[in-house]
This record gives sequence, C-alpha cells and structure tokens, in this order.
Amino acid sequence: MSVITNITGREIIDSRGNPTVEAEVTLECGVTGRASVPSGASTGVNEALELRDGDKKRYGGKGVLQAVGHINREIAEALVGMDVLDQAALDRAMLELDGTPNKKKLGANAILAVSMAALHAGAECVDLPLYRYIGGVNAKRLPVPMMNIINGVNAKRLPVPMMNIINGGAHSDAPIDFQEFMIRPIGAKCFREGLRMGVEVFHSLKSVLSARGLSTSVGDEGGFSPHVASIDEAITLIIESIERAGYKAGTRASGGDVSIALDCASSEFYNTETGLYEYKKEGQGRVLSSTEQAAYIQSLTEKYPIDSVEDGMSESDWTGWQILHSAIGSRVQLVGDDLLVTNVKYLRKAIDLNAANAILVKVNQIGSVTETLDAVRMAQNAAWKAVISHRSGETEDTTIADLAVAYATGQIKTGSASRSERICKYNRLLRIEEELGASAEYY
Ligand code: PGA
Ligand code: ZN
Repeated sequence: MSVITNITGREIIDSRGNPTVEAEVTLECGVTGRASVPSGASTGVNEALELRDGDKKRYGGKGVLQAVGHINREIAEALVGMDVLDQAALDRAMLELDGTPNKKKLGANAILAVSMAALHAGAECVDLPLYRYIGGVNAKRLPVPMMNIINGVNAKRLPVPMMNIINGGAHSDAPIDFQEFMIRPIGAKCFREGLRMGVEVFHSLKSVLSARGLSTSVGDEGGFSPHVASIDEAITLIIESIERAGYKAGTRASGGDVSIALDCASSEFYNTETGLYEYKKEGQGRVLSSTEQAAYIQSLTEKYPIDSVEDGMSESDWTGWQILHSAIGSRVQLVGDDLLVTNVKYLRKAIDLNAANAILVKVNQIGSVTETLDAVRMAQNAAWKAVISHRSGETEDTTIADLAVAYATGQIKTGSASRSERICKYNRLLRIEEELGASAEYY
C-alpha cells in the first residue's frame, strides 16, 4: 500500500518571483504527497548546492529545469517501488545516486523536494498528521512502520514565533547591516496568544514608523525596511512598539512579555581576507576586529532585552564564535546559521569547540529530511537549542511548522506578520494547536 508508484517534479515560482522545485510522490494506495523547496539570499558557503540552469534566456539563469529533470528521470527510477514509510532508506538512496558531498549532481533542490513530498505521502498513507509522523522517521533502529507512530505520539509542544519585524542586510534596502530584528512573545500562555502579541507589536511598529515619516513597506520576510540611521535606532523603535502595544519588553529573566532576537548575518559583511567586520550599509565606515565585534554584540545584549543572537560572528571566524560564546553564552542563545548549515559535520565541531549553543535548522541547507533530523537530534542530545527556520525565498509549503512541533524545538523563525508565504506556517501552527487541544504546550 505504501509503495511508491510515481514521482513527478515541476518548476514553480517562489515568493521572490524566482523558480523553485516542487515534487509529488504518489503511492500504490492512491495517496499523493506534495512539497516545494525554499531558497536563501544570504546563503552559507557550505550549504548543499541549489541547482540552477544558468541559461540566461530563462528567468535570468535561475530556472530549475535540470533539477526537475533529475526528479522525473534518475530519482523516479531509483525510488519507484520503494516503501515510502522508510524515509531514511529513500534519502539514503538519493544520496547514493548523487554521490557528491554537496548534492551537486542531482541538486539539493531536487533531492529535498522529493524527500519532503515522500514525508507528506507517508503521513497521509498511515493517516497521521505530519507533526506526529515526523517524530519517528529518523528512528532507524525501530521497525517500519511502527517507528513513525511510536515517536510521534508525544508531539505537543508549539514553538515561540520569532517574528522578523525589521528586515535589513541582504533582505531589504534599509541601510542597516544586521539582517533581522525579531520579537519573541515569550510571556504568552499558548501559541495563539504568542502570535497575537507578535501581530499586535507588528501593527504597533507600523504606527510608530508612520508617525516618524519612515517607510512601512516590507522586505523579503515581511518585516518593515525603514531608513533608520543605525542598529540602535531599529532596536529602540521595536522596544517602543512593544510598549505601545501594551507589553513589557524584556527577557524571561527580567519578567518580560516580549524579548528581542537578532540575526546579524555577519558573514555578509565579514572580509575573509582582512578578518574584519566591515559595516557598509550604515555608511559609518565602521570596521571591527573579531574581538571588537564580539564586544559590540555583548554590549547590545547588555543594553537591550536581547535573548538570542544568530550569526553574530562570521561563518569563517570560529575563534570569534568561541570568544562570543565564552562572554555571553551562559545567558544568551547564540544560534549558528551560516556557521553550521544544518550539517552534523559543522555542528559536531561547534559542540566540541563550545562555539555556540543553538542551531538554526533550514531543510534546504542540507537537502534531505533525514539529515535535517540528524542535525536536530545531535543538537538536542548535546543540550543545545534548535530553531526551525524558513528561507528568505519561500513558498506556500508549511512542512517546517510540523517539523517544529514534531521535534519539540520550542522555536520557529518564519517571518513577520505579513506575506502569505510566512503567514501560512503560522496558520498551520494555529491549526495544530487547536487539534492538540488541552495537551498543547508552548515554548
Ligand atoms: P536566507 O536568510 O534565507 O536569505 O539565508 C535567512 C537567515 O539568514 O536566517
Ligand atoms: Zn540567519
């Protein structure tokens, strides 16, 4: 019943108007699972390869027909006839077929689309919501299909939404080098309330910006992209909007309702030749050494209610990460995105070196469901936190919402309170919370 009978790929369009890959996996029982792949702008150098056609006559070279062709031919040939419930075996078969360390032969976009579509088909086949089914796909030692059911039964924890309400860096024209200024409604009792608080702060920020004559147009992740003069101004505006919405801006330790998280995406302004952090967008010509950058991040966390900092240091500055971690790692979540690229190889190194204490999890950085879950598990086993994340280029696919609940990560980063490719993930979480009823937990 759960045998794969057909696999199809197609080229669709993402939230930035760029082509991306969608796949459908059909089973003997008639069920079809569908999934599509996101795409980043500030990508880590060690990410799995997103295969683009390079033919400038179509979509400026960004077409994905080669990746789609690999799904329809090589991947379909290898996977048709296999049992969809054995996700690890499906992913392994695709990795072997590709045979390269970064999936450059078939394309991580081709492999991931099929991997996620198979996940959806498997869940549907055994009639389980995805967040219950996912909990077990990586339990390689348990018999199939029981593994899917045994591990997923305990899925009940909803994540705090980390809402990116000011977009800078590579995601907007705002003259701020840091990429993301997020709010975390940590004081809520449930996801629905947390989301409402976040949405209210988003609207409050809109009024605060308007009142100052600043732009309220939004960037790639649905946050505002105002022409503020500095990082300090962006944070101050957010604090004002939290308070105007009737909440206390503060971390958990200080009894706050809403805290602030940053994604500095500092690999984007780190000069690998000089080893310096060169702030460009703010026009101040600020250039910081690794130690100065760590001290700057520390000062921000001391001045403002910031409890999470992502990529405060560059992906190539491992020593800088260690300096920052030893300075503030005991009280601030330090999230590795570009540094770790959802890859257990870099995660292992970071755990051993004490370089961070949390991993950002992006399915397309590594390119298969099994490897994504390997990374989440390794992090959780090391008592690290994991934050499930979207990309700046997204589709209406909501798989990551289920992933966050299945693995009880307690945190999700999926944009602001606008743009439907962001909202659809939050809405999926609302539905999951309703389905869980009284058993649901938050954060
Ligand atoms: P990206 O940005 O999807 O453009 O890489 C998201 C992030 O850096 O977290
Ligand atoms: Zn990031």
